[in-house]
Order: sequence, then structure tokens, then C-alpha cells
Amino acid sequence: MVKDPVVYVDGEFVPREEAKVSVFDHGLLYGDGIFEGIRVYNGVVFKLDAHLDRLYRSARAIELNIPLEKEALKAALLETLRRNGYTDSYIRLLVTRGKGDLGVNPKKCPKASVVIINIQVEPMHGHGSKSQGISTIIASTRRQTPDSASHEIKSLNYLNSILATLEANRQGADDAIMLDHRGFVAEATGTTLVAVWNGELHAPPLTASILDSITRRFVLDLARELGFPVHERDMTLFQLLMADEVFLCGTMGEITPVRSINGQSVGDQTPGPVTQRLITEYKARRKDPQYGTQI
Ligand code: PMP
Repeated sequence: MVKDPVVYVDGEFVPREEAKVSVFDHGLLYGDGIFEGIRVYNGVVFKLDAHLDRLYRSARAIELNIPLEKEALKAALLETLRRNGYTDSYIRLLVTRGKGDLGVNPKKCPKASVVIINIQVEPMHGHGSKSQGISTIIASTRRQTPDSASHEIKSLNYLNSILATLEANRQGADDAIMLDHRGFVAEATGTTLVAVWNGELHAPPLTASILDSITRRFVLDLARELGFPVHERDMTLFQLLMADEVFLCGTMGEITPVRSINGQSVGDQTPGPVTQRLITEYKARRKDPQYGTQI
């Protein structure tokens, strides 16, 4: 039997059932907070430093004072993992604005709360998605504009993705692909998107209202290293629908091939040969200590 994991909450390691934050926490009241989703493969925390760097960048962007220095937070995270003892798991690291009054102003929240959850979870669309691919729709909900709540801040406010997911649910699809405010392809609800044409990779750029995904960077670098040309540039819906292969990538989703978009099949085969090659290499490398931190 898998034992109940401990959760780190503000310096304490508590059983899952006792892991709580206040109902006056602005993370709950307003989605005011930030997070990271991180995976552990064979005892290696994949790209931990990159995740911590992004967390502290997000904090800076919303003027949130994380009550621990980066090294101390890293130590708390590794201690949580050691106590739980999983060799393969998922980490949800979050920092909320903390307790305040019922107004929106963060000034009334003196101390941020830090939570580290470490559990075992399947890939976003289940293990089967790797071999069969997933069905998607193009959501009518667009990504937020770059001058509204920035997509580059990994905040606790996911309503944009939730609205698109509800559309996918209503249409019986596994996930939704979202367009940016100009009508170019952006990303899916919790993963970024890559299309393949004639053996070359095309990925919407960071300016297309996408998250600066750590998996995306890793996969595009991997593809370059394997000799596939990579283009980061705006992508039209037509180009997406005409692609030979499409896949999504992210920590939770890993590399997930897309089988169909709005009921139309993608290419002739899912996963296509390029996607397959990348999945194989990514699986081999992600547990290598050179790409992460050993517990
Ligand atoms: N886009 C969105 C909207 C996400 O929420 C995520 C994952 N949290 C990603 C992309 C993938 O990012 P990463 O590879 O860093 O997990």
C-alpha cells in the first residue's frame, strides 16, 4: 500500500488530511499566488533549478515576498521528497499571498504561505495518451492579451484555461488548444504546442501568450541536438491543421501526441515518427542527473 504523503506547509511537515491554509488566504480569495509543477523521475527532480528560477521570477512580477531564500526552499522541497520516499512522483510547489482582509489589496497580507505537495500522479491525459494521442478542439476562449494578466507569470489564477477546458468537456474532447488575441495558435490549457511539417518543428513563440514552459525549452533543444530544424514563430490555424504531426508538452502532460483537432485527423499516423523519436529521447534523458537534482 502506498503510504500517505506528508505535505510541507509553512515550515511544518503535516499529514495530507491536515494540510490546510486559511479561508482568508488571498490565494483562495483571489487566485493571488504562484506555483510550479515539477516531476521526479527515478530519484531525479527534473530541471529543479529552472523551476525555482521561474518561481522567483513570478514572485518578483507580482511583488510577492517568498519567505525563504531559494536555497532554503530547495532544501525544504528535497526534505519533503526524502520523507515521502517516492522515486517517481509529482511536486506542486505553491506560494500564496497569505492571510489578509476581504479586499483585493495585497498590502493587507503580511506573510506569504509556502506549500509543497508531493504525490504520485499519472500524465495529464493518462498513460494511454502516449500511444494513441488525444482529441482536441480549438477553444473560443482566447489566451489573455500580453497587457492583461501576463501569461508569463505562473499564477494560481487559471480561469482562462478552465473556461477552455469546459468547452473541451462539452464537446467530448480531451483538451483544448487556445489562440492568442490576434488569432494565432498559442498553447493548450496546461501544455505548450509543437507542430511538425516535413521533419521540421514549428512552435508558437513566447510572445504568442504562452507560458515559458521548461519542457518546451527542453524538447526544442533536444530536437535541435538531434538535427531537426526548429522554428519559433507565429502559427496560423491553417498551418496547424495541415501539420504532419502535432504534440503538446509540459510537466504534467509530458509529450502528448495530438490525434485530432475539431474532429479532423492530424497527419497519417499518431504518434508520428518525429514525435515518437522525441518521446524516446525525452524518456531516456529526464531521469539523468545532468538534467536535474538528485534527491
Ligand atoms: N502552459 C501552461 C498554461 C501551463 O500551465 C503549463 C504547465 N504548468 C505549461 C504550459 C507547461 O510548462 P512546463 O513545461 O514548465 O511544465
